[in-house]
Amino acid sequence: MRWEGGRQSENIEDRRNMKPAVMAAGGLGVMIVMVIAALLGLDPRKVQQVMNAGGQPAGRGGQAVQRELTAEEKRSKEFAATVLAFTEDVWTEQFRKAGEKYVPPKMVLFSNAVATGCGNAPSAVGPFYCPADRTVYLDPTFFEELRVKMGGSDGEFSQAYVVAHEIGHHVQNLLGYSEIVDRKRQTESKTEFNKWSVRLELQADYLAGVWAHYGTEKFAFIEAGDVATAMKSAKAIGDDRIQKNARGFTSPESYTHGTSEQRTRWFREGLRTGDLNRLKDLFELPYSEL
Ligand SMILES: [Zn+2]
Repeated sequence: MRWEGGRQSENIEDRRNMKPAVMAAGGLGVMIVMVIAALLGLDPRKVQQVMNAGGQPAGRGGQAVQRELTAEEKRSKEFAATVLAFTEDVWTEQFRKAGEKYVPPKMVLFSNAVATGCGNAPSAVGPFYCPADRTVYLDPTFFEELRVKMGGSDGEFSQAYVVAHEIGHHVQNLLGYSEIVDRKRQTESKTEFNKWSVRLELQADYLAGVWAHYGTEKFAFIEAGDVATAMKSAKAIGDDRIQKNARGFTSPESYTHGTSEQRTRWFREGLRTGDLNRLKDLFELPYSEL
């Protein structure tokens, strides 16, 4: 991926070198983390173990800086800030074309655990977007985990795909799609709600593809082989693959993110077409046609 020298966003905060805040564990924090873990399709028991092990969230902004960032951390911050700027430029333009205003999200880099507007979260939940504070939370060591433990890729464009998927959740929040699915949580059975979760997640993958479509048109950041690395990761985080690896069998009624095949297909569709009019398809097509 060609990104060096690109504009770096200022909407990023690096808490990896800050003093961890001492926070009360348990209660609401754990509950919310469990919900996040469920949304991400990870095993909540794993998260519970991490919480019990006493993962301490890195403090909120303004906390004392404890040490210099390492060279590797500096580079990962530059990369994340540049990808974030690519998303700001693309979505600002696309929203403007539609007569809307794009309000960019914040991004927080952390290690081990983090305090968020959605509760405390350990790194084990993976990257996520918190709608309450409109912030994407990312522990960059996740990418190595994605490669080593989940069989994905930690290539730069694959990392950008993961970030763009989380930014996709922010776009859904601005456009009202997240709210539609939130309401389903109250009214639908667990099985039906899971299907709405899959629709929302595949739409976030589609949005990541749309971002890549306009982004590379403008900044030419996609290089040969890049899309393959992102698709390797999209396959690795498909529900069917995760379930099969975890316990040897799959149960489609419990899918919350979509299969490897669906995730790659919708990213590729977004990348190929850049067509934002098709966003609603993800909510309107029969479930069996996704
Ligand atoms: Zn997601």
